[in-house]
Amino acid sequence: MTDPRHVRLLIIGSGPAGYTAAVYAARAMLSPLLVQGIEPGGQLTTTTEVENWPGQVSIQGPDLMVLMEEHARAMGTEIVSDIITALDLSQRPFRATGDSGTVYTADAVILATGARAKWLGLDSEQSLRGFGVSACATCDGFFYRGEEIVVVGGGNTAVEEALFLTNFATKVTLVHRRDSLRAEKILQERLLKHPKIEVLWDHTVEEVLAAGDPAGVRGVRVRNVKTGAESEIPARGVFIAIGHAPASELVAGQLPLREGGYVSVEPGSTRTAIPGVFAAGDLTDDHYRQAVTSAGMGCMAALDAEKFLSALE
Ligand SMILES: Cc1cc2nc3c(=O)[nH]c(=O)nc-3n(C[C@H](O)[C@H](O)[C@H](O)COP(=O)(O)OP(=O)(O)OC[C@H]3O[C@@H](n4cnc5c(N)ncnc54)[C@H](O)[C@@H]3O)c2cc1C
Repeated sequence: MTDPRHVRLLIIGSGPAGYTAAVYAARAMLSPLLVQGIEPGGQLTTTTEVENWPGQVSIQGPDLMVLMEEHARAMGTEIVSDIITALDLSQRPFRATGDSGTVYTADAVILATGARAKWLGLDSEQSLRGFGVSACATCDGFFYRGEEIVVVGGGNTAVEEALFLTNFATKVTLVHRRDSLRAEKILQERLLKHPKIEVLWDHTVEEVLAAGDPAGVRGVRVRNVKTGAESEIPARGVFIAIGHAPASELVAGQLPLREGGYVSVEPGSTRTAIPGVFAAGDLTDDHYRQAVTSAGMGCMAALDAEKFLSALE
């Protein structure tokens, strides 16, 4: 077995949070090492147009992430293609084991492992992701101005997304597999009395229906869970709002997690319960979940880490 690689700062994750932390940390002369994980570039590599990254009217998600990677590298970050499979925060330096067999030790760690939207698991849903199927109303609602939209889910997120999407859509149909919502009562009231929203109770989405060339969506095929009857709902956009899963497995049992598995940080900072361990981006944020907010937290994490490391000396 080779000797561990020791670095002052280890950044785990290569989404907007990780790369922004890397830019700041490299410019603070911390010589960071960033481990990219299984999805170099993070969630934005799974989408097409991004129209809310300041300074870029429109850019393809994968292109934006290549620019961020190049930026982090140009500032002096060492970027490694590896996946951290184990992280031990009980000893100092902290110890991370890569899938490659490399062991990394670090005086400080920034966790930026992000989150994953939960999907229904339909082939048609996956093949139309980015072409009419989305899991983020804030990101993609604008593309469906003047169109009909379907939202799937029954919790707070689904209801909030349905309400938000009425800003763009002529009609929003919320498809829910049960006969009541889990969302807070006040949200339910707003939803149920909204003139543009219709709720389809006791229905599941069986298929997202593709339209023409270029690829797009023309609706969904739904099934009544009580009668088995199937029908189609026309829609140009389908928003899956059944929850998110933060990638916090590495630190479960080592750091306090909030409901849903999000890493807890001190309010207004990226400090976790263990000094020298910082968390940024969707891993800790169940509310905003945007590239720009993740990047902002990545910046905060690098500044917090710099302060921690300089105090160590
Ligand atoms: C389809 C889609 C479209 C979106 N569109 C927009 C948009 O238009 N505008 C916008 O602002 N936001 C958009 N978002 C949301 C945005 O992508 C996220 O908020 C943002 O990517 C979160 O950044 P992050 O750095 O926290 O994590 P992520 O982007 O989730 O990246 C996490 C990183 O951690 C790495 N990782 C995970 N586990 C490990 C491990 N064990 N070892 C090493 N690395 C690991 C992964 O490989 C990945 O690189 C969209 C999201 C999706 C899914």
